[in-house]
Amino acid sequence: MNASDSGAEVLYQARIPIYPRSVKGRFRALKWGILTLAYGVYFLLPWLRWERGVGPDQAILFDLPGRRFYLFDLVVHAQDLFWLAGLLMVGALLLFFVTTIAGRVFCGYFCFQTLWTDVYLLIERLVQGDRVARMRLDRAPWSAGKILRKTATHLLWLLVAFWTGLTFVLYWGNAPDLVAAFFTGKAPFPAYATALFLTATTYVMAGLAREQVCTYMCPYARFQSVMFDADTRIVAYDEKRGEGGRGRHKITRELKTREQRRAAGVGDCIDCGYCVQVCPTGIDIRNGLQVQCITCALCIDACDTIMDSLGWERGLIRYTSQNELAGKKSRVFKPRTLGYGLVLLAAIAALAWSVGHQAPLELAVIQVRQPLFVRLSDGRIQNSYELHLANKTNEPLQVAIMMHGLAGGELDLGKFDSVRLPPQRSLKVLARVRVKPHHRHKGSRAFLFDAIPQEKPEIGMVSAPATFYLPGAEH
Ligand code: SF4
Ligand code: SF4
Repeated sequence: MNASDSGAEVLYQARIPIYPRSVKGRFRALKWGILTLAYGVYFLLPWLRWERGVGPDQAILFDLPGRRFYLFDLVVHAQDLFWLAGLLMVGALLLFFVTTIAGRVFCGYFCFQTLWTDVYLLIERLVQGDRVARMRLDRAPWSAGKILRKTATHLLWLLVAFWTGLTFVLYWGNAPDLVAAFFTGKAPFPAYATALFLTATTYVMAGLAREQVCTYMCPYARFQSVMFDADTRIVAYDEKRGEGGRGRHKITRELKTREQRRAAGVGDCIDCGYCVQVCPTGIDIRNGLQVQCITCALCIDACDTIMDSLGWERGLIRYTSQNELAGKKSRVFKPRTLGYGLVLLAAIAALAWSVGHQAPLELAVIQVRQPLFVRLSDGRIQNSYELHLANKTNEPLQVAIMMHGLAGGELDLGKFDSVRLPPQRSLKVLARVRVKPHHRHKGSRAFLFDAIPQEKPEIGMVSAPATFYLPGAEH
């Protein structure tokens, strides 16, 4: 007796192997195009050189030790990382906006899992053959030929996985140097650990887990229903047309032409099963909208192929909406989609403005709190500050540091009163401020630090607020 016989809940179901069949068609061609573009960008970008006047000549480089990200001509400093939060917000809003209108189009065409699984399936098909050949091979007893085919498949998968992991690592260092160091055992440990981790996860996710990732692991598949409504584009089977009055039926001598089928009350679906065989998640779209469907549209291509061969119009399976299927009008732009769209535009505009209006010189002040103040032997009170200066231009900057707004305050920067900031670099300066005894009051007093460029007045003075603490301010 098994769990279901006994009425107990089945918590885990063994994976049913899926052998997706190859298909040709407009959506498959579009998917290959997107895949080629995505792979080209991902694998070639670390090798693209870029003249930016200062810094490395790699177009995209995430320089963690230098705490700077290079994105073509844009240099992102550590203090600009809030842009990353902005970018994530734009990504999330874009996903909401697109999902509300076009459903899971991201899953079907752009998701890493889909793109890498597609390549793994292609390798499997090239080495082991199409659906029927693969099913036969899996059922066949182990032989030299079977071992050879299976080993070759897994080795090629591992190669793609390793290439994927290594490429990711190349975004974090100078690619040519890092590759040489990697294969001579001289790369830093995190490079090997990251490459190994990504090799393993790519191999497992795209080679072994595949549709299980979309069905059981991906949270997006679960919460997408919140964004769906009856107007959202989905891949759907036209049940009215496919089933007719008496259901689908295979082609027989009596049910060959459309006229014969109509007369018999039979629909246009000839129950060939091609749409099920090409589905990478192994579902039958004729059973209606299902959480496993990633809207890859391959079943549309499959059914269109069948319809073309019969000379019947395409679209038995098609992109549509639940409203359209029910014979109602479908609306693309509704208050919700317009709301998402407006918030998305506002977020993109705010991010673009922030990036486009990056200050050439930045100053931030951090109070040294241990101790908050010091009483000197002559009675003066001293506070200390860390001044963070960032030169975001491609030229060196001589910057004078001053303060104002603190009566009787004296600034001590050590042996200098100005600093030279190399291009695209930041610098930390320790500043001490002292107040003479006759100016002493209880509590805290606000004042400003000023950074004044010496050679380039057009950049302008930058000020940052600070607080001077006196005895009693800590209570
Ligand atoms: S049902 Fe169709 S659109 Fe959905 S995952 Fe399967 S093949 Fe892709
Ligand atoms: S491919 Fe089209 S005709 Fe064939 S089973 Fe699927 S829906 Fe029916």
